[in-house]
Amino acid sequence: MGKHANVKRWEKYDDEGNFEGKKCPRCDSLIAQHGNRESCGNCGYTKIQK
Ligand SMILES: [Zn+2]
Repeated sequence: MGKHANVKRWEKYDDEGNFEGKKCPRCDSLIAQHGNRESCGNCGYTKIQK
């Protein structure tokens, strides 16, 4: 997967480069959490948590 050099720092990586947030199972982008929903702004994947 391509990482751009100018990628924004909103991705939640710690100092060792470990990912702290959730990733989209479809496109591997960062997933945003909205209450009981998780949605990927890249491909539109949405998961409802019950
Ligand atoms: Zn996605």
